[in-house]
Amino acid sequence: MTKKINIAIDGYSSCGKGTLAKVLAKSLNYIFIDTGAMYRAVTYAMIQKGIGLDNLVELEKLLPSLSITFKHIPEDDFYHTFLNGNDIENEIRSMAVSNLVSPVSKIQIVRDFLVKQQQEIGLNKGVVMDGRDIGTVVFPNAELKIFMTAKAEIRAQRRLNELKENGNLSITYEEVLKNLNDRDYSDSNRSNSPLLKAEDAIVIDNSELSKAEQNELALSFAHKAIGKA
Ligand code: C5P
Repeated sequence: MTKKINIAIDGYSSCGKGTLAKVLAKSLNYIFIDTGAMYRAVTYAMIQKGIGLDNLVELEKLLPSLSITFKHIPEDDFYHTFLNGNDIENEIRSMAVSNLVSPVSKIQIVRDFLVKQQQEIGLNKGVVMDGRDIGTVVFPNAELKIFMTAKAEIRAQRRLNELKENGNLSITYEEVLKNLNDRDYSDSNRSNSPLLKAEDAIVIDNSELSKAEQNELALSFAHKAIGKA
């Protein structure tokens, strides 16, 4: 029987980490986990409850009451994020959540709460996880680490198209680009678990790659890593 491995995919905002992670998970029959969605779910819950960034007392009470799960929805062949049983996939992609999620993800008790869950999911291997600190903090021993990047303007245009397809028609390209640049800056410069390329990660810059080329490249890395495990 072939051995299962863990695959860590990190990189900048909106460079297709989730899309690639899903393709790998499907081809290898692995579990796919979008850790950005977990930080977004906590952010959404804080907005719902009116808990501000400085209110650590209320946040500490809130966290244990949150159950974040993922479910594959056949209608759109997409993994949706659920918070305490409610589908919040669309809500967590809103600009309100996008603008607050990076400051929320700097809060140590939030990171501790989510990283613990992510590490538990990886114990049995066979997981493709995407985020910012997967190869450096969550799975430092992952058998395959990929660090993804693409030009900011290309990422902003792709993200804008996605938002428009999902009915967010009032958003402008400039707003999306600003949000990406702000989050990249904040994620790369925070003191706890900043976005960093793990030393042993393979870089994929997909600015000039088609999805098919990118997927083929990553799958070849995955098969090689599984062969070595
Ligand atoms: O991946 P996505 O862009 O949805 O992530 C939203 C935000 O969550 C990121 O900008 C980052 O601030 C935070 N995040 C993080 N660590 C992760 C995944 C996401 O800090 N592993």
